[in-house]
Amino acid sequence: MNLAFFGAEGKVGHALVPVLERAGHCVRGIELDDPVEVAGLDACVDFTTPAAAPENVRAALEQGVSCVVGTTGWDPEPLDAVARERSLRLFVAPNFSIGAVLMMRFAAEAAAFFPRAEIVELHNEAKKDAPSGTAAATAQLMGTGPQIHSVRLPGLVAHQEVIFGSEGQLLTIRHDTTARESFADGVLLALSRLPDLPPGLTVGLDSLL
Ligand code: NAP
Repeated sequence: MNLAFFGAEGKVGHALVPVLERAGHCVRGIELDDPVEVAGLDACVDFTTPAAAPENVRAALEQGVSCVVGTTGWDPEPLDAVARERSLRLFVAPNFSIGAVLMMRFAAEAAAFFPRAEIVELHNEAKKDAPSGTAAATAQLMGTGPQIHSVRLPGLVAHQEVIFGSEGQLLTIRHDTTARESFADGVLLALSRLPDLPPGLTVGLDSLL
């Protein structure tokens, strides 16, 4: 596909653009203050900031281009109608790591059989918020009110364990992110499935797995 990548020079962009290119996509990076000229491209990918993403996505949709968005901290709902009116797709996922999404799914499945569980999420000390969005979303999916423990230390990247306990047994479901390339499989999957999605907004990688 011919793609534009908003935020290609960012931390995620740096990791993902080479993977997209190795997968056969032709990628044009668009940075802050670059003109958003994307008409005729097959799709746009956005990993920027909560302030930039809505403007980028609106501009892309208005030029007739569907979008795959990983930027967090903004509300894509108002752009649903913009995409729908033009029969375009807007796919937004708060977590593009297939392993993390499966970890959440497996934890929700196990919670039906193991009501006692706790979540330990471990991130690099640079992450200021706690608990992580993934831990909060996991707890919500489990529906059993697990306690969440947050660890912030140098040396960590992004890790989560869901520990289930019952008489005489423990079940641990763990996911480790060791590099930002972990988001590439999810972005590639979203791009490949984009034409099959209904027009308008689709949220979450879970809907593609
Ligand atoms: P980052 O390193 O700060 O990169 C953001 C990039 O976007 C920077 O290069 C920035 O340029 C650029 N930018 C800012 N405004 C722009 C605009 N209007 N048009 C085009 N580019 C613009 O951040 P990051 O770590 O790569 O993360 C980016 C986003 O992805 C964050 O919202 C983060 O939470 C999210 N994220 C999502 C996932 C997921 O799985 N969904 C995973 C990781 C991260 P300047 O430096 O010049 O401002």
